[in-house]
Amino acid sequence: MPISSAGPSSSSDDRLVTTATLDLHHLPDDKPVFACQKCSEIVALQDELVSKAFNGRSGRAYLMNSTINTSLGKREDRKLLTGTHTVADLHCASCNTSLGWMYIKAPNGEQRYKEGRYILEAAKIVKENNW
Ligand SMILES: [Zn+2]
Repeated sequence: MPISSAGPSSSSDDRLVTTATLDLHHLPDDKPVFACQKCSEIVALQDELVSKAFNGRSGRAYLMNSTINTSLGKREDRKLLTGTHTVADLHCASCNTSLGWMYIKAPNGEQRYKEGRYILEAAKIVKENNW
């Protein structure tokens, strides 16, 4: 019986990444959100928080499933503690302040859960509890 090699197949697809921009009118009023510290634009729902145990360039950072009202900069390879990741800087779409970055490609399977997710630096955002 032939044994198929079930090693991790490295797909080298160059996906085009865009950030979803939600219509603010569709945001639920009663949900806690993260807002841009500078211009108060809502940049993420706290429901989308994955982990608070991350470090940004200026201290504590949050890993998010999604962000809103943000724009991405040029993708680049960045050496991080956990290996070389392909990332793109994340900016507030309203005032263009740098908020963190997006993970586009992780170096190995252990880090792959971060792909397609976002880092928001805690120092760049404020928590707003709308309830
Ligand atoms: Zn802003």
